[in-house]
This record gives sequence, C-alpha cells and structure tokens, in this order.
Amino acid sequence: MRLRNIKGSREVIAACRYVIQEEGKEKASFASRSAWSVRGKWKEVFGNDHPLCVEIGMGKGAFLMELARRNPGINYVGIEKYSSVLLRAVQKQEKEELPNVRLIRMEAENLPDVFAPGEVDKIYLNFSDPWPKDAHAGRRLTSRAFLDRYQRILKEQGRIEFKTDNQELFDFSVEEVREAGWEICALTRDLHNDPELSRNNILTEYEERWSGEGKPICAMHFQKPANTQEEQGF
Ligand code: SAH
Repeated sequence: MRLRNIKGSREVIAACRYVIQEEGKEKASFASRSAWSVRGKWKEVFGNDHPLCVEIGMGKGAFLMELARRNPGINYVGIEKYSSVLLRAVQKQEKEELPNVRLIRMEAENLPDVFAPGEVDKIYLNFSDPWPKDAHAGRRLTSRAFLDRYQRILKEQGRIEFKTDNQELFDFSVEEVREAGWEICALTRDLHNDPELSRNNILTEYEERWSGEGKPICAMHFQKPANTQEEQGF
C-alpha cells in the first residue's frame, strides 16, 4: 500500500505521543548501535506487564485498533514503513487514544533493534506485499530471513498469524515455515468458510477489498521452534 506523499505527514507523526520515535542515531551508543530506547523496555512504555503483540505492515491500522478495542488487557504495536500510510493510523489513534496501542514508522528488517529477545508474544502479518519475482523472494515478510528475525524477538512458543489472498505467497510461506522448523497450528485456504478460524476474525482493509471481490482468503497460524542451545546461552 502506498499513498500519495502527503505533505506534513512526517511532522504529524513526529508530534504524536502514541508514535514511538527513533532517537537521533548520533545519540545511540556505539556499543548498542540501536537508536531505539524502547528495546527491552516495552513494559515501561505501556506502564504494565500485559502481553505484547505486533502487527507488521499494518497499513491504515483498522485491524490493529479493533484488536486493541476488543482486548484492553493486551498491548499492541503497529509497524508500517510509509509515513503516508502510517498517518491514517495516527489520525485514528489521535481521535480514539486507545491506551494499549503504539505505532512505529520503520522497516521490518530492523525489528531486532526495537524488541529484545523474547519480548513479543504474537506477531500478525496481514496481506504482506507478495514480491512476485524470484529475485525479490528475500523481501517477502514470510521469507527465511524474516522468520529468523521473528524467532529472535518472540518468546518461547510465540506465534505468528498470517493472512493473504495471494495463493503463490501463501504456498511459498507454508514451505518457508516448514523448512525453518516452525510448527503449523492451523491452516486454511478459505478463511471465511472455516468455522473455527473465522470465529472472531477481524477483517483488515485489504481483506475487505479482496473478499468483497470474491477472492478466498488463506490463513496460517504457526509457532516458533524451540531455541537452540546456543541462543539459550549454553
Ligand atoms: N495489513 C494491511 C495492509 C496490507 S498492504 C491490510 O491488510 O489491510 C502491506 C503493508 O505493509 C503496506 O502498507 C506496506 O507499506 C507495509 N510493508 C510492506 N513491507 C514492509 C516492511 N518491510 N516493513 C514495514 N512495513 C511494510
């Protein structure tokens, strides 16, 4: 999703108290190399120790905000790489001020700079860009390199919930997830007609559009493999 560059969107985002801002790179200590002071400190950000869920590529934020309304005892962080898109979520949150929502403009590649190992309970990936060319497979948010990043920030038995209308991306994702040793907990190629998985399903903006055109929606829930001994610090 890419909207026309909207004048002033960066300024509005920078002024919003629900947006986590990247600190000046010059301020980040050389040793940590991270410009994100929130890493490892999300409990302080929200002022509680509720579970932490992250949506990557949240678009205009309708899904995240509905989840947050339904689950006030869970904290939600929405990540989006384009200011022009994030602006829409910021405007919604400025109106509603859900206490359990924070937003970040960032590239998903940098997730481990923002979340410490094991800090995240669940990740949502909804209608991620398909990157159809083989040469761009590494940019898909369900590619092996991204799964490795998710594995680092998710806690033991942390889960990912993924939805897409794109069959090729779904097939690719199932393969990557299996090869990386994750456990598939649930899978459907017709979410809206699956009695189990469609219960409590929240439509995203893309989901509304594509299912409205009669396209079936694929969904998969998967759980991270046990950490290797090395990662556990043995
Ligand atoms: N989840 C929304 C939007 C889907 S479009 C919905 O279902 O309606 C995919 C979104 O992911 C776009 O807004 C795009 O800008 C964002 N995105 C794609 N790659 C990203 C990345 N690497 N890091 C952060 N956001 C990304």
